[in-house]
Amino acid sequence: MRLLMATGNAGKLREVRGLLAGEGLQVLGLCDLPDAPEVVEDGDTFLANARKKAWTLARAVGLPVLADDSGLAVAALGGRPGVHSARYAGPGAGAAENNARLLEELAGVPEGARGAEFVCAMVLAVPGPEEREFVAEGRLSGTLLPAGRGSDGFGYDPLFLETTTGRTLAEMDLETKNGLSHRQRALAQLLPELRRLVCETPSGAAVP
Ligand code: IMP
Repeated sequence: MRLLMATGNAGKLREVRGLLAGEGLQVLGLCDLPDAPEVVEDGDTFLANARKKAWTLARAVGLPVLADDSGLAVAALGGRPGVHSARYAGPGAGAAENNARLLEELAGVPEGARGAEFVCAMVLAVPGPEEREFVAEGRLSGTLLPAGRGSDGFGYDPLFLETTTGRTLAEMDLETKNGLSHRQRALAQLLPELRRLVCETPSGAAVP
């Protein structure tokens, strides 16, 4: 069964493909569907953005769509960057600029007050005469280092220390990050629905 993962972020797509390996799904990314509509993420919450991405794309392409909206919530910054995580340092900013802005804002914040949480809202939208929607949320807590460590992963991974392992997410290989991440925790809740969908889809057919 073909499933569209609603992301143009190669790091996210790699993680989700790893998490769904062996489930009988061909996981497409937005890079595979160049004509898919662009979705403006203008919601106030992770869930609102994930829902908008999932349904805009599911209705446009006629495939089940998995959409996640995720980001970093930093307690000392009142929950920022939150839904603005991808563009924290401004439009077009990349991970290096976003991490630099985060470090600037946290300058002087002592080690014990640098707690943060990765949050992932995930929506599975199944189009068709009877539309179905499934929603999940996953979180991962940790602490932000004063300088990055590691070269794996993407986004804020080098600054995010996962305290039980003592490693940043960028110091973990894909399998290790996928064993504990906010995305894995959200996706685990949707797996039963995805498996049901695979079972009810005739092989070679798209849904509906
Ligand atoms: P989205 O594509 O709008 O969901 O934006 C997610 C943004 O949040 C990414 O561009 C990263 O900056 C950040 N983010 C989300 N999940 C992760 C993660 O697992 N590691 C590092 N950064 C993440």
